[in-house]
Amino acid sequence: MDMSHGSIMDSKIVLADRVLRIKPSPTLAVNAKAKALKAAGADILNFSVGEPDFDTPEHVRNAGKQAIDEGFTRYTAVPGIPELREGVARRLQIDHGWDYSPEQIQVSCGGKHGLYNMAQALFGPGDEVLIPAPYWVSYPDIIQLAAATPVILPLTEEKDFDLEADVLARYATERTKGIILNSPSNPTGSVYSLEALTAIAQMAKEKGWVIITDDIYDTITYGDASLPHILNVAPELKDQTLILNGVSKSFAMTGWRIGYTAGPKHVIAAMNKIQSQSTSNPSSVAQKAALAAVTGPQDFPITMKKAFLPRLDFIMAALAEIGDVPCVRPRGAFYVFPNVSAYFGRSFKGKTITGSVELADYLLDEALLATVPGAAFGADRFIRFSFATSMEVIEEGMKRFAEALKRLE
Ligand SMILES: *Cc1c(COP(=O)(O)O)cnc(C)c1O
Repeated sequence: MDMSHGSIMDSKIVLADRVLRIKPSPTLAVNAKAKALKAAGADILNFSVGEPDFDTPEHVRNAGKQAIDEGFTRYTAVPGIPELREGVARRLQIDHGWDYSPEQIQVSCGGKHGLYNMAQALFGPGDEVLIPAPYWVSYPDIIQLAAATPVILPLTEEKDFDLEADVLARYATERTKGIILNSPSNPTGSVYSLEALTAIAQMAKEKGWVIITDDIYDTITYGDASLPHILNVAPELKDQTLILNGVSKSFAMTGWRIGYTAGPKHVIAAMNKIQSQSTSNPSSVAQKAALAAVTGPQDFPITMKKAFLPRLDFIMAALAEIGDVPCVRPRGAFYVFPNVSAYFGRSFKGKTITGSVELADYLLDEALLATVPGAAFGADRFIRFSFATSMEVIEEGMKRFAEALKRLE
């Protein structure tokens, strides 16, 4: 697949440096290519999607419809409607015991946009932001759009992609202004241990770092119920922490575009200024739907988890059977991230697989399997499969994957 970001020049207009420094989201690009091939009649099995394969729950859809019918279709307050900010604050209190006032909440056009507002409000030239890799594809580019510098910390599968204190110390400098945490992680599904969070908390306290914690998958976890969280490890860090979350994953609402941030009042106010001069407010209708999600019954993510678990078990068993694609068992989210580097250097019809991009290309062309190359997540030895797809697709897909690997010589 074309992971390049060169554009075809059909006019003399010169683009800004800013846009030349970043690339389009590779996951969205693979998904678009898979969908196009499928529309053209190819029997593509799509493992590239980063969204639940569930419909938005009915009570949430109805709240959206009702908002339209009642004419709730005008501009709203920039940071989101007050009842949604209150609802989010109450959710954070009930689920985690954290105290946030509505003025400490911003509702944005999806979680990604919340991160964008945050980066624009917090970071600038000369600032370094620590990003543990494998990372979510958008972190480095959003930091770069703020003219700041992403600094990538390597995590290893040997340590279950946990963060180690000595790695943290090695990459921190005087210019470090913040760190982005994502637990459970997209793409690895790993969660940070208590020890890792303790080490991060200690460094952050010492150096005054901003901690951005992307909790978008916090309702989709497998196994032991309690997920260690930096704010529970070190509650005193609350005034230098920003919590990023939203309804995209937990309520299967990716297309509605509602995310939210909780943090110190002056940071939220700065983010509101950015939002007021860019998107004005998230969709009024989507906010009403999100209100139903955050204030209504909370069993939907549990239902999803119940569907995801057998799929995860099946994939892990299928990978184990292949034998040489080791995979750390995810503890949350809906992705597996096997190490496929045993196949690097092998070839098919004279074409050598040199890395994850070539392997993902090969799988798409020869096995009609859409996956996302690890390179997109800063980890070239891996590829990502989403299991937010049906059991039939997973069974057939794992068969095709095993056969395709066997054909490489
Ligand atoms: C999906 C996702 C988000 C948020 O996505 P939105 O669709 O913008 O709400 C944030 N972080 C990670 C790691 C994600 O996978």
